Amino acid sequence: MHFSSLKRVWQAALPCMLCGGRSSTHTQTAHISISLCHACHADLPWYRSARCPQCALPTGNNAYCGICLQHAPAFDHTLASLRYAFPLNRLLHQFKYQQDLAAGALLSGLLLQATEPPAVLPDSMIAMPMHAHRLQQRGFNHALEIAKVIQSEWKIPLITDGCSRLTDTPTQARLDLKTRILSLRSAFATEKNWQGKHVLIVDDVMTTGASMHALAKTIKRAGARQVTALVLARTLKEAID
Ligand SMILES: [Zn+2]
Ligand SMILES: [Zn+2]
Repeated sequence: MHFSSLKRVWQAALPCMLCGGRSSTHTQTAHISISLCHACHADLPWYRSARCPQCALPTGNNAYCGICLQHAPAFDHTLASLRYAFPLNRLLHQFKYQQDLAAGALLSGLLLQATEPPAVLPDSMIAMPMHAHRLQQRGFNHALEIAKVIQSEWKIPLITDGCSRLTDTPTQARLDLKTRILSLRSAFATEKNWQGKHVLIVDDVMTTGASMHALAKTIKRAGARQVTALVLARTLKEAID
């Protein structure tokens, strides 16, 4: 992978952000600075295998999966370079609930390192919105923080007032897909005109894809022609832990 604007220099003086050992890679952007040793970098749950281009679940030969063929989600494409597994789950927890900004920087940096931007850049990007109540509790929207780092490298305009979340649905990882889709109906709203736009939606993890579907549907109703999902990590059945 190659990013012309991403500077990588060997800086042995910086410790590995995961194990504290001697780091071998250092990645620096305008927003983040991350250092990892070879072993930690190699042990990350990289997701390299063939997958459905629409929802990023594993398939042979990168074919569309049966679910997308039968009930296609409202998003057209999913970019995911990591599986949701240790240590990403821990890092994400530290970032979201303990406001550990170093963990957030590391996660955003890994996403940038591992993900090629779409060949034709989307017209604009938005972060998965958080309900006002939850935003107040947590103090920041972690998806927006990740989106800011992506924006700084990919130079896609980041729209921060593009969409809002109207209902504060609890974390529903355990609900089945149908229940989750029902609970997410009318969860999002937009007052923007997205006519003809290709929109990139940034979120932390895609598990069922139901939130992404609901948000993509909302902006497509407002005219968007194409939606690409960009997530830090994809939950795969065997990787849930
Ligand atoms: Zn390490
Ligand atoms: Zn699929």
